[in-house]
Amino acid sequence: MAQGREHARVGHVMAPDPDAPMCSAKGCRAAAVWVLAWNNPKLHTPERRKTWLACEEHREYLSKFLGVRGFLKDVVKLEDWETPGTGPSAG
Ligand SMILES: [Zn+2]
Repeated sequence: MAQGREHARVGHVMAPDPDAPMCSAKGCRAAAVWVLAWNNPKLHTPERRKTWLACEEHREYLSKFLGVRGFLKDVVKLEDWETPGTGPSAG
């Protein structure tokens, strides 16, 4: 049994203020600039999107983390990110 591999717990966003989204990287408290949209086909239906937030510094790190697993779907600027269902006409 191989144990003790580093486990990455970066999925938890603990921003107390929803108006001030923070980077999802562990230990990082920088303001989020990017939204990483991802999907784990083993857990989620294909149209489902999980999102992580990233600052400039951690965008590449988090993208890679998801990318090597084949989970990463999209990387968009936070200001350009539209939460599904809130727009007047989501084409
Ligand atoms: Zn960060």
